[in-house]
Amino acid sequence: MKFLLVPYPDPVSGHPTKYVRDSIPEIKSYPGGATTPTPKAISFKPGELLGDETGAFGIKSWLESLGHQVVVTTDKEGPNSVFEKELVDADVVLSQPFYPAYMTAQRFAIAKKLKLCVTVGIGSDHYDLDAANEHAVTVAEVSYSNSRSVAEHIVMTALILVRNFVASHEVAKAGGWNIADCAERSYDLEGMHFGTIAAGRIGLDVLRKLKPFDLHLHYYDKHRLTPKLEEELGLIYHASVDEMLPFLDVLNISCPLHPETQGMVNAKFIAKCKRGVFIVNTARGGLCDENAVAEACKTGQIGGYGGDVWYPQPAPKDHPWRTMPYNAMVPHISGTSLSAQARYCAGTREILEDFLEGRPYRKEYLIAHKGRLAGAGAYAYTTRQ
Ligand code: NAD
Repeated sequence: MKFLLVPYPDPVSGHPTKYVRDSIPEIKSYPGGATTPTPKAISFKPGELLGDETGAFGIKSWLESLGHQVVVTTDKEGPNSVFEKELVDADVVLSQPFYPAYMTAQRFAIAKKLKLCVTVGIGSDHYDLDAANEHAVTVAEVSYSNSRSVAEHIVMTALILVRNFVASHEVAKAGGWNIADCAERSYDLEGMHFGTIAAGRIGLDVLRKLKPFDLHLHYYDKHRLTPKLEEELGLIYHASVDEMLPFLDVLNISCPLHPETQGMVNAKFIAKCKRGVFIVNTARGGLCDENAVAEACKTGQIGGYGGDVWYPQPAPKDHPWRTMPYNAMVPHISGTSLSAQARYCAGTREILEDFLEGRPYRKEYLIAHKGRLAGAGAYAYTTRQ
């Protein structure tokens, strides 16, 4: 069989031969009891860079040892790309959201042998799910593998924005000492109203992590949490996003990108927020109208915007979020720490073992299967049809 892998390019200084740390902690289960991935074996050392071209998700040598053809490419855009040329007879496509191989309906149509698309990570919006269903291609992702990595990044970004870290760091780097310039936009998180759109694996973990900061914690999710969890964390539930927005000093967005949520954060949405709201989005760039966000950062309606997700990816050099005021943007990295990579590459191996050996996939790894949304996909996504 032919496996087509789209990792991100190697570091500019080359694939690392040495790492900052000699090992990473071993994590065996997630909150709620689900286990971390359980492949029969792995062919990499946890803590190594696996998401780049040389790392090839830690599965290349294993697949080749089984006699399969493995094509690895970072050339993914347009009809003349290596990806699109190799796609025509590929059986399996593997791509990470950080550097997505966008599988449009047109690409599904030319991929006549395609059976499985794996999201090496979480968030399968770069695969057109209607088209996957039309062609009965299975879409699977490694649920939970990097959810808690992203939750850490969200907490960090909320603090960075509220405390005015970025501008203060620039002052220090430039040799300055003007405390007043740093302090005039700096607040404490304590006592603020924090709300999350979606309290799934990431959103709920953020709420848990923020509990000790003594905030007011709000959420909206189309699936309400249990009364026990709401009580344990002291959560304020809202029946809609619109109902929640006027309360918030800090808004977090952690829902998938699908027809219900595409372009949700537009000028009308932003106008419903308190002036100076801080917004953290590590979910997907396509959830926002990028110009409306940039404009609101200029007028002060948004006090600061941070996260790691853009559209498209890689983001163009002139993307307004690179230069808009009070941003704490980074490239799409929150879910691809070396710690996260070890888990999502082990989970990818588990999915491929199940595929090759004809076993059912873990239900929570499925997004689309046998022509319809399934598992985690049926719970969190919608399709156009
Ligand atoms: P999850 O499936 O556990 O949670 C998703 C939640 O979104 C569910 O509770 C679902 O009910 C809710 N939801 C769906 N549509 C909604 C809507 N219209 N309004 C409100 N809630 C809605 O997934 P997760 O692990 O929490 O990940 C969430 C998303 O975060 C992913 O789909 C992906 O887009 C993004 N993500 C980003 C990174 C990164 O590196 N930045 C990594 C992992 C995931």
